[in-house]
Parts: sequence; structure tokens; C-alpha cells
Amino acid sequence: MSYDKIEVPDDGAKITLKEGTDDELEVPDNPIIPIIYGDGVGSDVGPAAQTVLDAAAKATGREIHWMRVYAGESARETYDENLPDETVEAIKEHRVAIKGPLTTPVGAGFRSLNVGLRKLLDLYANVRPTYHLDGVPSPVKEPEKMDMVTFRENTEDVYAGIEWEAGTDEVEQVKAFVEDEMGADGVIHDGPVGIGVKPITEFGTKRLVRRAIDYALEHDRDSVTLVHKGNIMKFTEGQFRDWGYEVADEEYGDEVITEDTLWEERDGEMPDDAVVVNDRIADNMLQQILTRTDQYDVVATMNLNGDYMSDACGAQIGGLGIAPGANFGDGRLLAEPVHGSAPKYEGQDKVNPTAMILSGRIMLEYMGWDDAADLVRDAVEATIVDGLVTYDLERQLDDAEKLATSEFADAVVENIETLS
Ligand code: NAP
Repeated sequence: MSYDKIEVPDDGAKITLKEGTDDELEVPDNPIIPIIYGDGVGSDVGPAAQTVLDAAAKATGREIHWMRVYAGESARETYDENLPDETVEAIKEHRVAIKGPLTTPVGAGFRSLNVGLRKLLDLYANVRPTYHLDGVPSPVKEPEKMDMVTFRENTEDVYAGIEWEAGTDEVEQVKAFVEDEMGADGVIHDGPVGIGVKPITEFGTKRLVRRAIDYALEHDRDSVTLVHKGNIMKFTEGQFRDWGYEVADEEYGDEVITEDTLWEERDGEMPDDAVVVNDRIADNMLQQILTRTDQYDVVATMNLNGDYMSDACGAQIGGLGIAPGANFGDGRLLAEPVHGSAPKYEGQDKVNPTAMILSGRIMLEYMGWDDAADLVRDAVEATIVDGLVTYDLERQLDDAEKLATSEFADAVVENIETLS
């Protein structure tokens, strides 16, 4: 396929699906990978991540051929729109891509481009691994206890974008419908109101929970915890829990058990030979990740809970400068850091590129380049242990040296060269 404004590298090859599968990739040693730098600090962390991922690929005998694609500010400059069709097409066609953060205006203005991209590409699982790297300062006493992977449903919930603005005819119609025809009279206060809808489907829930259980089985994890607020939102979040248990009960045989006994009763041990699926109410879960951190392993939850929870987990392992993420669909991945565009630091070569680099690590793992992925993790850790860090970590450490974004990336590359 040719594009209007995207330059396709001459000598790279496309990542494709293995014949007869809808989720397994055939990855050449010279793949073309689309990259969106994104807004704000994206133009700092994007190139820094490229430098590190290039070095890891080279050290393991491969070469990435980057293809710049555009969304947000850069797309407005190039195309006069926020999310050009050819950006979406290029990511669809090349299957694996990485992006920096994109700014979303609060209240008025355009809808979130991140939400748009996830929907258009049907990237239904937002996956956020949170693990602690040696040397990273943390607000908790034992950050090494955190080793969790959150699977957040990406296409439904109150994030689905089905909402009506106060003062419009539409919102008044919806209000009249729920009051007059659906029996919710007297629930909504008089006066201006905004209304949103929270769809949670069996299809959306089951494919997300399936993905989380598959991950737990493939990566030798002990448990998958379904996190919900089903005690209050019985027909949406409660149903998520029930459908989640149905997947566990009906699709995995002896490999998965849905028994839930207390951690103490098990003396901290989970059965070796099966993944335990259990559930927790979301507010309880937010305290348990602090008080019983090592009890949790893989988590499957809905869009809003997942958004809050993964930032809270991220704080325990060093904050937004560190926390990586990726969005998965069937046979498709878009890696992206958890953090936003931090506009006040734009163009200062200042912020921490680790989150973007480690998002790239998830991408390498998905491509089957585990050796390169491990090298990236080890080199980032070695750099931080050496006390070479960006401003966000330096302000929390004694005797560390403050590096710019690009200098940190160069230091990681040196460690890749030393370690390989
Ligand atoms: P943010 O951009 O994540 O920044 C909040 C704070 O987090 C920063 O001021 C900084 O804290 C710290 N931080 C973020 N990235 C960092 C990094 N790489 N290294 C070190 N510290 C980092 O959150 P926001 O200000 O709420 O959001 C700004 C815009 O980004 C909004 O438009 C929002 O919608 C968007 N956003 C996009 C995505 C995405 O594209 N996936 C995700 C979240 C938010 P200190 O100043 O305390 O050092």
C-alpha cells in the first residue's frame, strides 16, 4: 500500500500473520514499525526510545525500520486533522506499532485520540505490566513486591463515548426516556444534567478475561483477579465478574480453578499446576495493592477501574516516568507509555523516557524478540543502578546524576553494548 504523506522505508519488511492463525505473528529480522511521537514530551521520549530499541535490535542481529506516522499536533500540521485515516491504515497494515502520548482537551474540544485509535484498531486490551527495577525510588517500603500485569478492557464502559451534553435536546430525550419509560423517576436531580452510558458486553468481557488467563498460563503466573464494583453496579460490573468466571469455568478445564481461599490459609502458596481466578471489589483492591501487594499477579478489569488502578500501581514502582503499557488486539499491538504529554516539559529534553522504552520492550516481547526485550530491561536497570537518571528520579535519590532524556537513552545504549 502507498500512502499520501507517510514515507515507507525502502528496505524493511512487513510483519504478517502466520498462515492459518488470527493472532500469531510472522516477524522478519528487518520489520517496518510505525511510530507516532505524539504531543508534548512525545518528541523527546519517542526518539530516545528509538535509539534504545535500535541498539537492542542491533545487538541481537536485527534491524528495525521505523516509519513515522502522525496523530495529534503533528497530524494537524501535516494533514490538518487530528487522526488521519492513513495513520490508522498504516498501523493496521503493519500490525505492531508504538506511540508517545497524545493531548486530550478536558470538557470541550475533540474526543480522546487514544480512545479513538484503540476503537478504530479494535485494540481491546490495554496491558500494563508493573514491576520494580532495582535502584528506582518508591514511596512504598517494599516496591519489589509489586509484579502485576493489569489487563484493562479498552473499548467499553463509560469510556465508550456514548454521552450527551447538558442543555442539549438529546440529553433531555434520554432523561425523559429513563424517567418515563424505564422507571427511574426521581433519581436524576432537576436542572442541567450530562448523561453517559456504561455498556459492558459478554463479548467484550470474555475476550478480555480470556486474554488475561491465556497470559497467566503462558507466563506461569499464579492468579487472575477480576476487579469490579459489582456490589453497586450489579448489571454491568457484576455481570463482568460473572462472565469472567464463566470463561474460567467453561473454557480451560483443570488448568484454571475458580477457588478463592485466603492468602494466609494457603500460607502464601498458590497451587503450582493451575491458575486461580478470583475477584475483588475495586475499592478494596486499591488498598490491597498497597497492603498485600505480592498477593496479586494478573488483573482483569474494566476500562475506568483499570485506568485508575494501573496509575496507582505505577506510583508504587517509580511513577509515570517508569510505567509502560501496550494495547493488544487480535494479531495487533500498539505500545504506549502510561503517562500523558506533560506539556510543561515539552521540548526540554528533560523527562524520563523509561516508560516509552519499556513500552518498546513489551513490543519486542510480542514480536518474539525476547532476547532483545530482556537486554532493554537489564540495560535500563543497570543505568539506574549506576545512579544515572532523569530529573524525576534524581530529586528522590542521594548521589544520583541528573541526565537529560537523550543522555539517559545514550547511557542505556552503552549498557546494552556492555551487556550484549
Ligand atoms: P501527564 O502528562 O502524565 O503528566 C503529569 C505529571 O506526571 C507530569 O507533570 C510529571 O510530574 C509526571 N510525568 C509524566 N510523564 C513523565 C515522564 N516521562 N517523566 C517524568 N515525569 C513524568 O498527565 P496530565 O498532565 O494529566 O496530562 C497531560 C495531557 O496528556 C492531557 O491532555 C491528557 O489527556 C494526556 N494524556 C495522554 C495519555 C496518552 O496519550 N496515552 C495518557 C494520559 C494523559 P512532575 O511535574 O511532578 O514531575
